Amino acid sequence: MLKGKNALVTGSTSGIGLGIAKALARQGANIVLNGFGDVEGPSAEVAALGVQVAYHGADVSKPAEIEDMMKFAASRFGRVDILVNNAGIQHVARIENFPLERWDAIIAINLSSAFHATRLALPAMKATDNGKGWGRIINVASVHGLVASAEKSAYVTAKHGLVGLTKVTALENATTGITCNAICPGWVLTPLVQKQVDAKAAALGLSNVEATKLLLGEKEPSQQFTTPEELGELAVFFCSPAGNNVRGVAWNMDGGWTAQ
Ligand code: NAD
Repeated sequence: MLKGKNALVTGSTSGIGLGIAKALARQGANIVLNGFGDVEGPSAEVAALGVQVAYHGADVSKPAEIEDMMKFAASRFGRVDILVNNAGIQHVARIENFPLERWDAIIAINLSSAFHATRLALPAMKATDNGKGWGRIINVASVHGLVASAEKSAYVTAKHGLVGLTKVTALENATTGITCNAICPGWVLTPLVQKQVDAKAAALGLSNVEATKLLLGEKEPSQQFTTPEELGELAVFFCSPAGNNVRGVAWNMDGGWTAQ
C-alpha cells in the first residue's frame, strides 16, 4: 500500500517508533530511522522487510539538527511523504522539585521537535500530486495529551501541546491531501516505561512483576499493555486511503484509561 512512499520516524531506534517504522515498512515504505543507541539492529530489522533504510542521528532537541535530518532525508529519498513525530522522554517529579533542565528538554524533544519537523516537511508534501499535495503527519502524543497525572508536569504539558499542534496542522492543510493526526497510547512496555516500573519497584520494595501489576492497575482498566505493533497498525490506517479525511484526531489506544 505504501510502496514508493518515504517515511521518517523520529526516535525509531527503540520502542514505539521502531514498531511504527516496521509497520510502515511492511506496507512498502522506505524508512529514515532516527534516535540514539543501537542503530545496526533496528536498521537490519527494517531492511529485512525489503525496503530501503537510512539513518540520521539528529538530536531532535536541536532545531539545526532537525533541519539537517530533513535535508538528509530529501537527498536520500527525494522527499518525506510520511512524518512520524515520535521521539520523547519522561521525567517524574513534583512541580516544586522539577529540574529546570528536564523541563526544557521535555518541551524541546516531546513538543518543539514536532513543530520543526512539520514546518520543514510541509513544503515538499504540498508540492506532490501535481500541487494537490499528499502527506501524512502522525504525532505520537499520549493519554497524557488528553488527561493528566501528578508528577508529570512537563510531559503532560508537552503532550497536550502536541495534540493542539496536531489540530492546527490538520486545519491548515484541510483542503489538501495532507492529513495530521495524533496517536495517544496508554501504557506500552518500552524502555521509557520500564524505568517507571523500576522506580516503583525500588520505592515500594516490590518485584518487577508486582510493580508492573500496580502500574497497570492504577490507570489501565484492561490491565494490559498496548504494543508497538498495535500502534504501528494504527499509523498504517492513518496512511491508508481510508484515512484520507481523518483530520486532527487524537486517537487513544489506552485499554480504557481515558474512558473512566
Ligand atoms: P523509548 O525510550 O523506547 O524510545 C524513545 C526513542 O526516542 C528512542 O529511539 C530514543 O533514542 C529517542 N530519543 C530520545 N531522545 C531523543 C532526542 N533528543 N533526539 C532523537 N531521538 C531521541 O520510548 P517509547 O515508549 O517508545 O516512546 C516513544 C514515544 O511514545 C514518546 O513520545 C512517548 O512519550 C510516547 N508514549 C509512550 C508511552 C509508553 O507507555 N511507552 C505511552 C504514551 C506515549
